[in-house]
Amino acid sequence: PPEPGRPYRVVLLGASGVGKTAFASIFAGAADSMDSDDCELSGDEMCEKTIEVDGESAAVTLLDTWDTETDKRAQECHAQTGDAYLLLYSITDRASFIRASELRITLRRFRPAQHTPIILVGNKCDLVRRREVSVNDGRTCAAVFDCKFIETSAAMQHNVWEAFRGIVRQLRLRRDSE
Ligand code: GDP
Repeated sequence: PPEPGRPYRVVLLGASGVGKTAFASIFAGAADSMDSDDCELSGDEMCEKTIEVDGESAAVTLLDTWDTETDKRAQECHAQTGDAYLLLYSITDRASFIRASELRITLRRFRPAQHTPIILVGNKCDLVRRREVSVNDGRTCAAVFDCKFIETSAAMQHNVWEAFRGIVRQLRLRRDSE
């Protein structure tokens, strides 16, 4: 569990091309944040900022992982460093949905404690005509994996902050239950 005062570490996971960079850019941009200056996304692709959720501020460090498919060590490392995970797939890409399931299993292997907050995120929901994964598939998968579910569009900035706020709410619930 995170020690008090330390920012929550939220990790973006998912196949390449699903929208992780787009999510990180929205987070890094000042749009919905209390910080006046944008933070740089560089090197390790992480960004720390304080966001307001339900009238209470929360310090969050967002880690944008590059494609870890080929790098098992990086996978294990990410599976151990996060306090919470946004597990992304693209609703236009069935393979990325399957990849999200695999990543969920990897997480469970390295994080046997049940309380790691995870949200399954079906991104690109603006691309309705290219949909390969139904809302129901996403919801069912999340139920099986015992995590929350949301569909988003980074392109339309739809539900992205809702996903960030959702993960903070789950982190708080876990903190309050300890
Ligand atoms: P990453 O490899 O997971 O970091 O994916 P990117 O963030 O680089 O996104 C891959 C491509 O999908 C880019 O061309 C993005 O502009 C596009 N993209 C990301 N999110 C969305 C979305 O919600 N809707 C649409 N239409 N395109 C998106």
